[in-house]
Order: sequence, then C-alpha cells, then structure tokens
Amino acid sequence: MKKLVIATNNAHKLEEIKAILGNEFELLSLKDIHCDVDIPENSDTLEGNASQKSHYVYENYGLDCFADDTGLEVEALGGAPGVHTARYATDGHDTDANTRKLLHELEGKENRKARFRTIVSLIENGVEHQFEGIVNGEITTEKKGEKGFGYDPVFIPEGYTETFAELGVDVKNQVSHRSRAIAKLCEYLKKGAC
Ligand code: IMP
Repeated sequence: MKKLVIATNNAHKLEEIKAILGNEFELLSLKDIHCDVDIPENSDTLEGNASQKSHYVYENYGLDCFADDTGLEVEALGGAPGVHTARYATDGHDTDANTRKLLHELEGKENRKARFRTIVSLIENGVEHQFEGIVNGEITTEKKGEKGFGYDPVFIPEGYTETFAELGVDVKNQVSHRSRAIAKLCEYLKKGAC
C-alpha cells in the first residue's frame, strides 16, 4: 500500500481527507512521523504555502507527502481574508475571533458572495504537482450549526440553504473546496481509476 504523509495534524481535516481517499493509501499524519514543528508558511499565496509545507516534509523526512492550504475569498472584501484566512483576526488561529471579524466586516453589505479555495501540493519522488479545488457560496449574517470547523458555521455552499456546519461532513465532502482538490489528487494518484 502506498504511504503518503498528509502535512497536517488538524483532526477534522484528517477525517475529511481519509473519507475521500479511502483505504487505498496508508495515510500518515505529522504526528505519525513524529514531526512536531510548526511548519513555516509565510508565502503570500496559497500555492506558495502549500508548496512550502510539502517541501518541508519531503526534505526532512524523505517521504512522499501532500499539504493543503485554504483561503476564504470574499468578493465584497476584495478577496480577503485569502491567504490570511487562518490569522484574520489575531496571530493565533482563533476561529471565533476570525468569524466574528468576518461578520463585522460584512455588516450591512448586500454582496455576501464568497468562495473557499484549496491548493494541494503533492510531492511524489521529489517532483511537485498542484491541484486546485473551489466551492462558491455566501457568508451568513450569523453563525449557524455545530459541525465542522473554522468558518463552516458562516459559509453556505451554492445550491444549499444551510451552512457547512449544519450540513455535516458527508454533504461537505461532496462539494467542498478540499474534497474537489483531493479528488483531483486522487485521480492523479490512481492514474484515472479513482
Ligand atoms: P488551512 O490552510 O487549511 O490551515 O486553513 C486556513 C484557514 O481556513 C483556517 O482558519 C481554517 O479554519 C480555515 N478553513 C480551512 N478549511 C476550512 C473548511 O473546510 N471550513 C471552514 N474553514 C476552513
């Protein structure tokens, strides 16, 4: 079975990705390979950050791996928070503060269109490949739902009336930015057989 490191320790993300990639790969988290550093991600693009993380793992552990970087791009805010999504409100990854700030910035705004964009960077035998996944949607006026993580309680994907946090992981995995990027990764890894 092919071994692949996912450059994350985010339990929600791991769960989502394992559900999509299935049992065809032995997926290892950073914890599994005893990597407990905060991998630098200081690029000004999602592509650059994903690449930085996957290169870090490959160069330090010599294992095939992939990393993802996601941004929430809000039309009325000129694409912000974008690459700053994780640290929108503060320097720490404070999800509550981030969503509060987003709702505050959009107060009174009619255009609530937004999209999540994920870049996956795969390093296989030292060669990098990137895959992009996008889901369009809109930002609510208040938080709704308890499932998921991050901005899920304020994001309604196109074609639905509930937030990702209300819809839950099964529906989310059918339409999400990450699942679309991972599906492309999967297709590549299985050479069209996914
Ligand atoms: P990362 O690049 O996956 O670390 O994500 C950057 C930021 O986007 C973090 O603040 C996450 O909470 C948020 N984020 C990433 N993916 C999702 C998602 O699927 N739903 C909601 N928020 C997300």
